Amino acid sequence: MAKSASSTFSSWKSSTTSPSKTTCYCGIPCKVQISRTAKNPGRKFFGCGNYNGGDNHCKYFLWCDCLNEEDDNSSMIELLSSQTSSIGNAVEKVEHITKEIKLLVEKVDSLTEEVVNLNHNVEAWVENGKRLKAIFWSICAIIVAKWIFLL
Ligand SMILES: [Zn+2]
Repeated sequence: MAKSASSTFSSWKSSTTSPSKTTCYCGIPCKVQISRTAKNPGRKFFGCGNYNGGDNHCKYFLWCDCLNEEDDNSSMIELLSSQTSSIGNAVEKVEHITKEIKLLVEKVDSLTEEVVNLNHNVEAWVENGKRLKAIFWSICAIIVAKWIFLL
């Protein structure tokens, strides 16, 4: 008798849905019982309040430590969902920053182009300066030559 009851307990493991965690399907408070199965020796569980070793019970079953795990899970889920939304915000911010960085990179590219153009201009100016210097010195030479000639 005890043996068949304990084997039934282990098969109840999957049927843990109930509107209240500590009320069995009969609508009465559960009895806390201690498992004597080889798999879960000494583990406490909520069983039908009507259970008295016979078949006249609703087969409600919930491990007592599962109750805590379920609470932990729901708070974990809350925590995870709040973290997920903050991660979503962070992702949006990163996308925004990425766009700004792209714009800045474009600006840097156009500025680099301008600097390259300016360098070309400076080179042209330096060339012009050299030419002007040459013209200046040749004019000086002409003036000096004329001055010498006049003497
Ligand atoms: Zn019951």
